[in-house]
Formats: sequence, structure tokens, C-alpha cells
Amino acid sequence: MSLVVVGSIAFDAVKTPFGERERMLGGSAVHFSMAASFFTDVRVVGPVGDDFGDEEYAVLRDRGVNTDDIEHVAGGKTFFWKGEYEWNLNIRHTHDTQLNVFGEFQPKVSDASASADVLFLANIQPDLQREVREQCSGAKLAGLDSMNLWIDTARESLVRTIGTVDVVLMNDDEIRMLTEQPTLLRAARDIMDMGPSTVVVKLGEYGASLFTGDGFFSLPAYPHETVIDPTGAGDCFAGGFLGYLASEGSPSDDASLRRAMTFGSVVASFNVEQFGTERLQALTRGEIDERYEDFRRMTAIDQVPAL
Ligand code: AMP
Repeated sequence: MSLVVVGSIAFDAVKTPFGERERMLGGSAVHFSMAASFFTDVRVVGPVGDDFGDEEYAVLRDRGVNTDDIEHVAGGKTFFWKGEYEWNLNIRHTHDTQLNVFGEFQPKVSDASASADVLFLANIQPDLQREVREQCSGAKLAGLDSMNLWIDTARESLVRTIGTVDVVLMNDDEIRMLTEQPTLLRAARDIMDMGPSTVVVKLGEYGASLFTGDGFFSLPAYPHETVIDPTGAGDCFAGGFLGYLASEGSPSDDASLRRAMTFGSVVASFNVEQFGTERLQALTRGEIDERYEDFRRMTAIDQVPAL
């Protein structure tokens, strides 16, 4: 099944306690599509400027990502984000966000993208997410991510957009901020009242939790001794999660959602091992499957002896 993603395509400047990069390929749609490409065919929708060149396209194309719907805006500059992490890598400070070509972006989705089976609205301005959702009317499964910036500045639009998707994948802080609910269960129920049937709460270093109408499932993050750069982990989680579901024909049963959670966690765990997209550029499906099995053994509750 085909998967299409709209979101930021970016240059990132990132500083962590373990090093820094002044300019590297990033953006929510880039991290998502690289992750999803291990499972299914992926197309990326979004604008870039003159500074986005062959080297950047090659990173996506080498993973088999279809870049035909990336719009090159002549004379424009690519979205830019600058962030820094504390020793507690769950704490991130944004120093700069330059929307650049996203400021005037009018999504024009090709026929191939419009007929994709699965759609992911990665983190961008919610009006733009909704425009893409409307154009991709054929999608049987649609997911969405967002962030504090849009909750602060475009809350009403975000709630409308959430009403058009099946799955919301957001950070715990952001989901609490959006719903003003103190517990994740109440927050997830509030999101489901907006329309979606499934809510995935990303908990950074602590893993992720899945809420459905009558189900709950939670996974820790893969235990790493060293994390170099957490940027994009959330998008990689979403890419593994929806990429796997797309590859299976978008099932919604409990076992499939649990597998999707595990693949999401596994791909995210690789992404944080190096800066930006560096680790995923070298990753293989064999490594993913091996860590999936490791993860399954580590978290299997049926291996806890019964009382
Ligand atoms: P994550 O670490 O999964 O939350 O995503 C990190 C990516 O989000 C980075 O590569 C940034 O380029 C991108 N990003 C940061 N701020 C924004 C924003 N306001 N809109 C869209 N993408 C953003």
C-alpha cells in the first residue's frame, strides 16, 4: 500500500551534550519518510528552496522515497530550525524557527499522492495539514502529529484538523497542553471525542502508550547506553508505526497496533544513535527485525512468572 506524508522538509542546526551540527537535513516529513521507507512505498509532499540540492534529494531517494511531490520554490529558502538539548535529553529548547518557503506554501497534491491509501500529516501549520487531508480524500487511514507552537497559535484549526484523521500521535506534554487534562487517559479520551479512534502518546525517553476505544498498550523506549541526538525520534516512531500498518493493508486490530508500536519504537531507537538522518541512511531491514525480536523478549509480560 502507498503512504504519503506532508510535513516540514528542513535544514536543522542541532546541539546536544555530545556534539553539534550547524546544518543538516531534517524536518518532520524527512524523518518520517526515511523511517516508513523500510516498510512501504512513501511519497513526500512539501516545499523546498534553492538551497535544497542533489545531496539532500539523494538521501531520500537512496531510501526509495518518492520525491516527485517536493515543490522547488525558485528564489526561496528551505525551512530552518535550530534547537538545543539539555543533559536531560527530554528537555529541548528551540532557538530559531524560519518558516521560509512554508510561509506561502499552497499544497498541490499529485494524482498519485491523492490516491495513496495511508496519509500522515506530520508537524506543520494545521491549515496546511487540513488542505492536504482534503486533497488526499482516498486515504483509508490518516494520522497526524503537531506541536506546542501550533497549539499556542492555531488551536482551533488544529482541533478541526484532528477531526479529519483516524490516529493522533503526539507528545505527552503537547497532548496535555491541547486538552488541558491532567492524565493521559482523560487526554486521550478528549482527543477521541474530536474524531480519531486511536491515540498514541509519545513519551520520549520513556516510550509510548496506545489508547483505543477499549484498549491500552504501553512500551518503554529501547534501553540505550548512549543517545547522540533525539531529533526526529517522534517522526521516526510515526514512520515505523504507519509504515508497518500501510504494509499490512491498514489493519486496526489490537495485535497489529501493538506490532506497529513496536516497529515505531525500534526505528526511533536507531535514529537517536547518530545526528539527524545519519543512522537511518545506513540502517537495514535486517537490523530492524533483529531489534524487534530483542524488544519483544525484553517487554514480554508473559515471561513474568505468575503468582
Ligand atoms: P521531533 O524531534 O520528532 O519532534 O521532530 C524534529 C523535526 O521537526 C526537526 O527536524 C525540525 O526540522 C522539525 N520542526 C521543528 N519545529 C517545527 C515546526 N514549527 N514546524 C514543522 N517542523 C518543525
